[in-house]
Amino acid sequence: MPSFESVNHARQVWQEVLAYLRQCQSALVRAWFDSLSPESLEGGTLTVRAQTPIQQHYLVTKCREVFNEAAQAATGNLLTVNFVCDGAAGGDLLRFGDNFDEVILSPDYVYDNFVKGPCNDMAWTTSQAVCERPGIAYNPLFIHGSCGLGKTHLLQATCQELLRRDPQRRILYLSCDTFRNHFMESVRNNQMAEFRHRYRGVDVLVIDDIHFLAKWDRTQEEFFHTFNALFQRNKQIILSSDCPPWEIPALEDRLISRFGSGMVAQVDKPDFETRVAIVAMKARLRGTPLPQDVVEYIARKIDTNIRELEGALTRVQGYAMLHGGRYDLTLARAALGDVHTNVRRTLTMQEIADLVAGYYKVRLSDLQGKRRLRSVAYPRQVTMYLARHFTDYSLTEIGAYLGGRDHTTIIHGVRAVDNDRSTNSKVDAEVARLEQMLKDSTRAAAG
Ligand code: ADP
Ligand code: MG
Repeated sequence: MPSFESVNHARQVWQEVLAYLRQCQSALVRAWFDSLSPESLEGGTLTVRAQTPIQQHYLVTKCREVFNEAAQAATGNLLTVNFVCDGAAGGDLLRFGDNFDEVILSPDYVYDNFVKGPCNDMAWTTSQAVCERPGIAYNPLFIHGSCGLGKTHLLQATCQELLRRDPQRRILYLSCDTFRNHFMESVRNNQMAEFRHRYRGVDVLVIDDIHFLAKWDRTQEEFFHTFNALFQRNKQIILSSDCPPWEIPALEDRLISRFGSGMVAQVDKPDFETRVAIVAMKARLRGTPLPQDVVEYIARKIDTNIRELEGALTRVQGYAMLHGGRYDLTLARAALGDVHTNVRRTLTMQEIADLVAGYYKVRLSDLQGKRRLRSVAYPRQVTMYLARHFTDYSLTEIGAYLGGRDHTTIIHGVRAVDNDRSTNSKVDAEVARLEQMLKDSTRAAAG
C-alpha cells in the first residue's frame, strides 16, 4: 500500500508530466490521458494505472520513452513511468506483443473516433452489421481503398467493439506479414499443428493489408485452408487491402473468389465536409483548441488522404509550440505554407519520366522498353511510384505511358518501391530527393 505522501507526490508529478507533454509533445497527447491515474512514486518509478489493457499496452509499447523523458524533464530527476492495469480482459487470443504480433491495437481506433461520411459509408455500415451478427451478416467482410483512408482504424474499431460486446470472444487481429512470418516459422519448427490450432480455433480472424499475401504462394495455400476452415463454421473473417480482390497481383483465383464472396466495401477519399469533421475530431482527441476557420483551412488545403490530414494538424501544432501556442489562421498558413497540395495536377508523365531518366542516367526508351535489367527496371518502378503519388493518372494511363504495361504491373511496381522505402534507408533518401525535385520544379513553374 503506497503511503499517503507517495500518492500525493505521484499526483503532483503526474500533472507536471502531462503539462510538459502538452507543451512539448502536443501531437502525442490524447484526451484520454486524463483518465489515467497516478498511484505511487517510489524508488524512482512513477506508477500509473490505465483503464483498459489496450490503453496499457499502447502506452507501454508506443509511449514509454516519451513519458520517461517527460518525467525527467519535468522533475529534473531520473524517473521512469510504469503503466499498470487490472486484469487481462480481451480473451486470451487477442494477443498483442508476443513474437509475431507487432500490431498494436490503438485506443484511438474506436468507432466513437471514426467520422462517417459518403466516402466510408458502406464500409462503416457493414462493419457495424458484422458487430451485430458476426459470421452471419457479411462473411467475409473485405474493405479496400488507398492508403491513409481509415481501413486499419475501422478494422481495429470493429475488433474493439466485438470484444466490448462479448469479452470472451476469441479475436485474432494481425497484419498479413505477421501471418506469413508465423507460418514460415511454424513450418521451420515443425509446429504446423499448433499453428492450425491457433488460427482455426478463433471466432473472428482479422487480417490487415491482405494484399501482401500475393508474394508468397505457400502462405496463400495455407491461408486458403484457414479461410475455409473458419468460413465453414460461420466464423467471421475481416480483411483489408489497398485494392479489390481481383486487383491483388498474383492472388490465386480461388482466393479472389473467396474474398469477393461476402461483402466488398470500398473506402474513398473524404469530401470537404468529412475532412472538416475529421480535423475537428482529431484536434479534440489531442486536446487542442482549434478555431473553426483553422479547421477548415487545413481541410481545404489537404485533400489527399487522412493520414496527411493528420500530418498537417501535427505541423500546425508543432508550429504553434514554437510560436507561443496561439492557434489562428496566420499561424496555420505559415505552418502549411510549403505543402504543395496542387503539385499533382500540374505534373505530366513526361516530366516525371525525364526527371527519373536524368537522375538514374537511363534513356526514356529504357523506361518505356521491355528490358528487365535492374538498372532500368528499378528506375521504371520509381517512375510508376512517383506518377502514382504525384499525378491523378490512372494505373492504366501510367501503364500505357510506360510501354503499354498493364495495371497490375504498375501496382506491383509502386508497392515494390513502397516496400524498399520502408526497409532501405538509402532508397528512401533517394526517392525523397526525387520527390523534393518534383515539388521544386512545380514551385518554380508556379512562381
Ligand atoms: P489505412 O489503414 O487505410 O492506410 P488508417 O486506418 O491507418 O488508414 O488511417 C490513417 C489515419 O487516419 C489514422 O490515424 C486514422 O485514425 C485516421 N482516419 C482515417 N479515417 C478516419 C475517419 N473516418 N475518421 C477519423 N479518423 C480517420
Ligand atoms: Mg492500414
